[in-house]
Amino acid sequence: MNEPRLMLVDDEAAFIEAISKRLKKRNFNVEMANSGIEALEKLNQGSFDPEVIILDVKMPGMDGIETLEEIKRKYPLIEVIMLTGHATVPSAIDGMKKGAYDYLMKPCDMEVLVTKVGEAVEKKRAQENKIIEARMKDIMRRKG
Ligand SMILES: [Mg+2]
Repeated sequence: MNEPRLMLVDDEAAFIEAISKRLKKRNFNVEMANSGIEALEKLNQGSFDPEVIILDVKMPGMDGIETLEEIKRKYPLIEVIMLTGHATVPSAIDGMKKGAYDYLMKPCDMEVLVTKVGEAVEKKRAQENKIIEARMKDIMRRKG
């Protein structure tokens, strides 16, 4: 698989920095944001185009669910994995109803995280390929 492009969003900076370091060793291309607002700003700037976003449920200000809704509204093809503690599991499940791919429990098991991100990246790439194929068919049909 080509380098997966991943954005980690969590208000605990030390936590995502530690995960980021470990994922970079596995050839992940990682960007970080410490709030929902910062994540959306980075997406809107377009300098980094993540395939998957790992999104903390509980953040001050704009929480994970609000951030998820905004991401899905503007960038529906990006796969989002909610990150949650025991207390906010119902919110994470709510997130899946709102379009999140899956959720992960804190503290994160790295193997589980890498597996889930890999699956989400594959799903996104397959969907993009379907869209490209549909466009190609459309072009071919018009050329007749
Ligand atoms: Mg948090």
